[in-house]
Amino acid sequence: MQVRNERVVDETTMGNIRRLRWLIPVFLALDLLLLMVFVFEPETGAAQRVGWLHGVRTVYVVTAVGMVLPLVAIWRLSARTRPDPAIRFLEFLAPLGFAFFTVALTVIDQSVTPNITPYVLGSLSVSLLFLLPPTVAIVLFSLTYGAFFIGLGLTQADPTLLLTNRANGFGATLLALVFSIVLWHKNTQYVLLQRELQQRNNTLETQQAELLWLATRDTLTGLYNRGEFLRLAELELQRAQRYGGSTSAIVVDLDFFKNVNDLYGHPAGDEVLKHVGACMRAAVRGTDVVARIGGEEFMVLLPQTDIQAAYGLAMKLQLALETTPALVSTDLRVKVTASFGVGCMPDGYSGTVAALYAAADHALYEAKRKGRNRVEKTEPDGTLTPSDFQRMRRQ
Ligand code: GH3
Ligand code: MG
Ligand code: MG
Repeated sequence: MQVRNERVVDETTMGNIRRLRWLIPVFLALDLLLLMVFVFEPETGAAQRVGWLHGVRTVYVVTAVGMVLPLVAIWRLSARTRPDPAIRFLEFLAPLGFAFFTVALTVIDQSVTPNITPYVLGSLSVSLLFLLPPTVAIVLFSLTYGAFFIGLGLTQADPTLLLTNRANGFGATLLALVFSIVLWHKNTQYVLLQRELQQRNNTLETQQAELLWLATRDTLTGLYNRGEFLRLAELELQRAQRYGGSTSAIVVDLDFFKNVNDLYGHPAGDEVLKHVGACMRAAVRGTDVVARIGGEEFMVLLPQTDIQAAYGLAMKLQLALETTPALVSTDLRVKVTASFGVGCMPDGYSGTVAALYAAADHALYEAKRKGRNRVEKTEPDGTLTPSDFQRMRRQ
């Protein structure tokens, strides 16, 4: 809790600094505008009035000059991401300077009016415009009230007015302090709540991503699973129907894989399956979809690929498998081969995924029948007639 609160303090400090970037220029403009009002006010009337006018002008000039340095500093410091001593000093100095400015105005005003409006407004503004940690706020408001108390004694000669103004000023200071502390606590709660919500959101997003992965992937090989493959194939066929182009598919079935399990055990068999998956993924394009659709059966969907190109790729895959044994352990390399069936949905034909699958599967059985470790495609000339598809769909 302590650490979390410290981080809130840091964030709030940077928020104060960012706010000062526009607060100081706005306040400087206001200060200069009011200075103009008093500069053009004729110096007529009692000596007391002229003295007050000089005093007010001096306060505005000193404040304007005093704001230049913080203004320069703030533009340099606000680029920092974490508060350092300079930032903390400025964060304290800016509201203190503002509060002292209102104290000075109120003290000078006592020669012409008994009211303490600048001080009251100043204290409340400080509590609303700056989010200060309670301890800082207590120090700041104590210093401000101390200056107000002493200053008033210098310019307010009437003991009754002095007493009531000091008492009213105390009330305003206390109220401002309470506002400041309440705002600080509300802000801390809000920031912590926001952060918790953000964390929960992140966890949910991670869990959602994990769920999506589990729902669409084969956990052994990391390839797409059968369901996702069929969904992606369906989408691809619809796309091809709308925009044109052939879609091909290759079904791969490992040869005598049962022997691998029988000879080396199922864990070794699993390693071989992983190796085959990686081999296939490495051999195809990023836009091709590789899936493990069953025990030792894989399938590759090749968008915008005719049967000749698909056949060429299947030959490449066959060679890659044949020449790259699976590294099951440091002393065990297992060579596996596979049979490949290539099917195609030629450009201009509309057919289902089931039809494309049936075409490739048909070729796979041909490859198995002709002795394995080979590639067969559904039609030797690379095309299928619509009646072929209808026949397959009926099968
Ligand atoms: P063929 O050349 O006719 O395809 O022979 P085969 O032995 O590959 O064919 P069969 O369908 O008889 O055997 C497939 C074997 O694949 C049976 C099963 O033990 C194995 N298998 C299926 N899924 C897994 C798996 O997840 N892990 C392992 N290790 N083996 C699997
Ligand atoms: Mg099989
Ligand atoms: Mg097999």
